[in-house]
Amino acid sequence: MAASLTDSHCHLNFELLRNNLPQVLQNARESGVGHMLCVGVTIEKLPEVLALAHEYPNIFASVGVHPDEQLGHDPSIEELVQLAQDTRVVAIGETGLDYYRIKGDMTWQQDRFRRHIRAACVTGKPLIIHTREAAADTIRILKEEGADRVGGVMHCFTEGWDTARAALDLGFYISFSGIVTFRNAESLRDVARQVPADRLLVETDAPYLAPAPHRGKTNEPAFVRYVAEQLATLRNISLDELANTTTNNFFSLFHDAQPIGIGD
Ligand SMILES: [Zn+2]
Ligand SMILES: [Zn+2]
Repeated sequence: MAASLTDSHCHLNFELLRNNLPQVLQNARESGVGHMLCVGVTIEKLPEVLALAHEYPNIFASVGVHPDEQLGHDPSIEELVQLAQDTRVVAIGETGLDYYRIKGDMTWQQDRFRRHIRAACVTGKPLIIHTREAAADTIRILKEEGADRVGGVMHCFTEGWDTARAALDLGFYISFSGIVTFRNAESLRDVARQVPADRLLVETDAPYLAPAPHRGKTNEPAFVRYVAEQLATLRNISLDELANTTTNNFFSLFHDAQPIGIGD
């Protein structure tokens, strides 16, 4: 029996996937993807994420508001802690900083990020960090807030080795998405070769960022296999070993997630 893959970051409740969910889940199964983490990006849509995680034992949920979400409800620490009490919630996020999409005074984004880190520390649940064109501030705030107490993952990693090293030093994991398969991503592939095996995760960020050879199409958890194959090649190990390692890492980091047994 081949080792099973885990998609550590996807958005199954987004329309492109939700409208086709039975097929999407069947494709995942057939590609050897045993577990998925459906990541929350708004409070308004959180009930959809939780419903999926309650319906399917191999789908887990997280609670958070994405840094690009400027208009929706911006929860307090207490609200985040309360929402994270749901038995299927294994992480806080996605949260972080994104200076690419929105410009101007980013104090509001940084305040929100700090509230998520504090909620993670209260609940003991790890963080899912999104960072884009904001690596220095992201690392600085993680340090200032003592995020090393709970750890987490730098999701859809696209930064250089210095940022990876700083995140690793805080006890964080590094997750690679389909971007690592893109033709122009040679420097990211260099980073992917260097991340210690016990800190490595794979993800799709579906429905976005489909890996080669499906680039530009709707992404889905089944395609995490292409990410895993790329990483296995880069690191000179078998796909089976890569799958085993990243799935074990997933359950070490997201310690509230219970794996389903084979045949469940
Ligand atoms: Zn993200
Ligand atoms: Zn995401």
